[in-house]
Amino acid sequence: MLNPEELVDAYGSPLYVYDLDRLRAARRDLRDALPDGFTTYYSLKANPHPLIGATLRAEGCRAEVCSTGELLSALEAGFPAGEILYGGPGKTTAEIDLAIGRGVRTFSAESPADLTRVGDSARRHGVTADCLLRINGSAPAATTSIRMTGTPSQFGIDEETLPQVMDGLLDTPGTRVVGLHFYPLSNARDEDSLIAEATQSIAVAAAIRDTHRVPIEVLDIGGGFAAPYSVPGRRPYYRKLRGELERALDLHFPAWRTGHPRLAVETGRYLTGDCGELLTTITTVKHSRGRRFAVLDAGINTLGGMAGLGRLLPLAVRVDGVPDGTATLTGPLCTPGDLLGREVEVPALAEGTILRIPNVGGYGLTASLIGFLGRPNPAEVFLTGGRVTAATRLELTRVPLTPPPAP
Ligand SMILES: *Cc1c(COP(=O)(O)O)cnc(C)c1O
Repeated sequence: MLNPEELVDAYGSPLYVYDLDRLRAARRDLRDALPDGFTTYYSLKANPHPLIGATLRAEGCRAEVCSTGELLSALEAGFPAGEILYGGPGKTTAEIDLAIGRGVRTFSAESPADLTRVGDSARRHGVTADCLLRINGSAPAATTSIRMTGTPSQFGIDEETLPQVMDGLLDTPGTRVVGLHFYPLSNARDEDSLIAEATQSIAVAAAIRDTHRVPIEVLDIGGGFAAPYSVPGRRPYYRKLRGELERALDLHFPAWRTGHPRLAVETGRYLTGDCGELLTTITTVKHSRGRRFAVLDAGINTLGGMAGLGRLLPLAVRVDGVPDGTATLTGPLCTPGDLLGREVEVPALAEGTILRIPNVGGYGLTASLIGFLGRPNPAEVFLTGGRVTAATRLELTRVPLTPPPAP
């Protein structure tokens, strides 16, 4: 593989480097961890780059998108529109119209109003939209974890309200309810939590089927597949998941092996996380009141932007290499929020040294504050067989609009 210096010489710093062989390996590991016949949706939220998408499409994934931008990236990646799953709690009429106009036919509906909006758009286009009802289950699974279900949420339809709303949902013009969608958690703490949530979703789906006679041709049990983020470490191998899912499905959906229902999972971070690293160069080393600072050319404009706003867990980057003391890693932006990690073990510090931040193939560049302070975006380069096979740079451009005519 090319060394970081060569890559930075050629493409500048900071620089995202994605190894497409590792991306394919993650896809294979996930396939091995799941029962045969599962569809894997790739959530473009993690990394919408069309080359990431195209690589996963070639490996048999479908696309799960939540915006017009993600949809266009998915189409550019070659995902067939008719197989894309379109979700999100606040789909607007304009974006649904665009999606249906481009051939999307499957939506996850997150509320009765959302389903109605999808149906209205489908009718305007003279088609019927296949819809999954996203369910916000009422009971927590045995293991606790960071969850988006069982609590008040903008996501999904509360399970306990189904008796009141189900008839209306099933009769929504322009739509055909084809199944259920669960997404109870992201980044499960361990395999047991993942299994508990997934098997709980299967049990809840069966209970809903038995109570409501809702057709379940498709059951998307969501995700929670974990990956390290911006720190060294390995993606988990799930060794028990396959057997536990088979057991739960045999119990609740005995015909699942013949495709009734069709089963799906979704993930972004598991597939993309370890294929990407960020190369960043130390611009300035300084000492302030007993602490060592390494000011980098990458900050929250390049990695983990929302963390800098205190909206998510603060970034706690760790870097690859032989440690030689600690330093606080900051970015170049004029805000104290531009912090990548405090007291991080770092290699010998010198201006011009390239640091490698691993496991940032997902939730990297496009999850960052790329417009803030107007620095150029890093290039993104793609390696296959250890050689650069593609490179791009994402640009923000301001487009002039015509003002309305004077009254
Ligand atoms: C964010 C999200 C995903 C992907 O989550 P990861 O943690 O990247 O696997 C999948 N499905 C839904 C509905 C999401 O909101």
